[in-house]
This record gives sequence, C-alpha cells and structure tokens, in this order.
Amino acid sequence: MDQAFRLLIDGALVDGVAEMPVINPATGRAFATAPRADAGQLDAAVASAGRAFPGWAGLSYAERRAFIERFADGVEVRFEELARLMTMEQGKPLVQARGEVGGTIAGLRYFAAQDIGSHVIRDTPAERITEHRSPLGVVAAITPWNFPLILLVVKLAPALITGNVVIAKPAPTTPLTTLLLGEVAADILPPGVFQTLADANDLGAALTSHPGIAHVSFTGSTATGKKVLSSTVDTLKRFTLELGGNDAALVLDDADVAKVAPAIFGAAMVNAGQVCLAAKRVYAPRAMYDDLCDALGALARAAVVGEGLDQDSQIGPVQNSAQYAKLIDYLAEAREQGKIVAGGAPLEREGYFIAPTIVRDLPDDARLVREEQFGPVLPVLPYDDLGQAIAAVNASEYGLGGTIWTGNPERGELVAMLIDSGTVWVNRHLDLPFDVAFGGAKQSGLGRQQGIEGLLEFTQAKIINIAKG
Ligand code: NAD
Repeated sequence: MDQAFRLLIDGALVDGVAEMPVINPATGRAFATAPRADAGQLDAAVASAGRAFPGWAGLSYAERRAFIERFADGVEVRFEELARLMTMEQGKPLVQARGEVGGTIAGLRYFAAQDIGSHVIRDTPAERITEHRSPLGVVAAITPWNFPLILLVVKLAPALITGNVVIAKPAPTTPLTTLLLGEVAADILPPGVFQTLADANDLGAALTSHPGIAHVSFTGSTATGKKVLSSTVDTLKRFTLELGGNDAALVLDDADVAKVAPAIFGAAMVNAGQVCLAAKRVYAPRAMYDDLCDALGALARAAVVGEGLDQDSQIGPVQNSAQYAKLIDYLAEAREQGKIVAGGAPLEREGYFIAPTIVRDLPDDARLVREEQFGPVLPVLPYDDLGQAIAAVNASEYGLGGTIWTGNPERGELVAMLIDSGTVWVNRHLDLPFDVAFGGAKQSGLGRQQGIEGLLEFTQAKIINIAKG
C-alpha cells in the first residue's frame, strides 16, 4: 500500500521519529507502514492539548456539537476507505468493518447531541446552590486491537462534547484506522483538540503517568489495566478502565437448542471471538448437552473462514501472531484434556487462521475455561443443578458481561440478577446502545462508558454556593 499515514500533533499531520510495519493478519505479511512516535512527540502532543483545552472548554455545547457533526460528516466521506483499511489491519470481514465504521459515525452524532447542563440544588430567598459539570482537561484514550474505531469513539465523542481534549493511542498492531481518523479531523477540529500518537507498545506508560494528562480512558487487558491504575496515582488522575472478560453463556432447561445454538455460536465467534464480551464458555443442562454440542459443532464446520475482503467470509483470521500462538497453545491443551467436537487446529494456509472450534468434556479448571481465550474457540460444559451452574459462572475474577438463554424471559431476568457482572443479556447479545452504561464488575474494570454515567466520567462536579441578601 503506497498511502502514507501520519500522526496528528498540534493540528499538523507529521511523520513519526521512526516507521513500523503493519501486518495484514490474513497473510502474515506487512502491507503498510505506520509512523512511530517517541517521547518528544508525546510531550509535544500533551503541550498542544494543554494549550487547546481552555478554548475548547470555553465553547458552548452547541458550538462543540457543530464541530463534532462536521467531523462525523468527514468520516462519512471516507467510509469505505476506513472499512477496507480496518479489514486489512484488523482482519474482520468487510461487512463487520463497515458495521464498525457506521457505529463510529453514529457514536459521534449521538454524543454530539448530548448536553449535561447544570443543576439547581437549592434556590431560596437566602441562598442559591448550583452544581455544574466541568471538563477534566487532557484525556488519554488508549485502545486495543479488536475494535480500533468504535472503542475509540465511545471515549472520544463523550470526552469532546463535555469540553475535554483527547490524545488517542491505538494498539501497535492496528494503528492505521486511528491515524486516518486523525487525518479527517486535521481539517475540521482546532489544533490540539484531537491528536493521534502511534507507538510500538512503548509509550503507554509515559502517557498514563504524564502530569499533563487529567484522565486516562483505557480499554485493554486486565494486566495492563492494573499498570495504568498504578501510574495514575502520582498526580491523582481520573480514569476509566474497560478490561478483560470471561463471559459465560448460561442455557436454561427450558431453552430450545435449535434456536439458541446459532445465537450462542454468533456470540462466541463474532470478530473471530476477539470481543471482550464474547461468549467464552457455555453451560448447558446435562439433558441437552449432547444436542447443543452437536448443533454448535455443525455450525462451526459450516462457517466460512477466510480473508476479510472476500465477500463470502464469515470469520476472519485472529489479529496478530501473539494471539495466534496463544490460541494454538490452548488448542493443544484442549485436545489433551477434552474432546474436540469441531475444528481444533489452525488452518493450513498463510495468515493467522484458526478453525472455529467447539470443545466438550473439559474439566472446570482447564485454562480454556478459566482464562480469557480471545479467539474462535468455545468450551461447552454440562451442569446438573442450576445453582451450581450459577456458582460456576460467578467463580471468575472477571465480571464483564454474560448471557442467559431461555424460553421464559421473566425467569431469565431472575437468573440474570444472580450473575455478578456489569451487563447480562437475556436471549440476545452485544446490544450496546449509546444511552446505556457499560462496564465491568470485579477485575473487568472500573467506571462506566456510554450512557449518562459515561458522560459524567469526563467531568467533575463544581458547586457554586451563593449567600443572597
Ligand atoms: P493490552 O492491554 O495489551 O493493550 C491495550 C492498549 O494498552 C494498547 O494500546 C497498548 O499499546 C497499551 N499499553 C500497553 N502497555 C501499556 C502501559 N504500560 N500503559 C498504558 N498503556 C499500555 O490489550 P490488547 O491485547 O490490545 O486487547 C485485548 C484485551 O482488551 C482483552 O483482555 C479484552 O477483553 C480487552 N478489551 C476490553 C474491552 C472492554 O470494553 N472491557 C473491550 C475490548 C477489549
């Protein structure tokens, strides 16, 4: 690819101090070059953001809304280019990439329309006390490689509309769509309001500990999230941590296998299983265990795995070589400890392709059951007693999401109340409207994104207390 990608720093599109190759996971070969920023460029971006903040914060909601709407228009113009680039750097089928770019535009427009406003606590002849929400300042938005754009926009858009300025740092293996977003913004947003820095996994700590950063909005693994948390302590930064998950799909005994199997398969395999909220383990009543395993196995064998740009592909490669190696390791253990119903190995072709895999009869303490596999590999476990199944679902350090599958939604709601996680869906999955708060329980995160709670996280309360007369 001949296209040049640049960082956006202080309103200018600039080269990095070095370059780094970007790999297409469908081939395992480099297809483009990304700029790599260094600590000096990071300092320059933070300084620029600091200069931009008072002016941006001083605009009205309506003025900021107009800028963000124009930004969304600009993204719309580059829609297909962004979608194809995402498929090439991330691997997902083009139809899913188009869905993500569409969600990015919708997210910009949804948050652009929000206005937190202020609130009169008391207004009497003797006093007037009001609460206002002030922006925090410079926000560092750090994202992982599974959804490079939508995970950025659910930080960027609420942060901007509430008056903050943002520095985005994408994952090193998927920097290009974020850089292209910066290119779109360069002509539209004032210098320093939105900036992009790409790194080789080496600038995150400098960014999250930088005294010029007021809030760190981080999405990534729990292990890195803990490092981020400790790096915010010195300057008491605000933070939002959206971390890992090991979500269970719990099938109740009144469910219809023919109906739920395709839904669970989709919940596990979308984006090649690289979704924080993917169904990562399934619990099924023993009486329907064989049927469910067989139905999931048939779906896995029928799924079309291939390059994302190929129209027929339903499941693409996994995103990077480290993830590919990790999954091969899980598969070796699964073949030893359980029974492979379908798949069970990488595809014999170039690129990071793993056959969609269903595994049964694994012990509860198998790594594939306890850990976050983050790939198209799904363990299915039987249960005899619903109480024990709920206890097994909750016996995890994670608590991000989860699903209940049942013929009776009211019963589903009662069971959902017993699951210890931030979101529980009943008979659906991955429904994440922008007006609904999202975030993790336990070690899946701290704080919330989206919804009113997500907007409030980019602000702080400011009280004005007036004695009258
Ligand atoms: P990761 O934690 O390795 O990296 C995430 C980001 O953090 C990258 O941009 C990386 O460069 C940066 N980073 C690395 N070291 C850092 C440091 N010391 N300080 C600050 N930033 C640093 O995660 P990943 O492998 O890219 O993503 C997969 C993980 O993300 C999975 O665990 C998944 O569940 C999680 N995830 C969570 C959500 C959610 O909303 N809860 C959404 C998507 C993914």
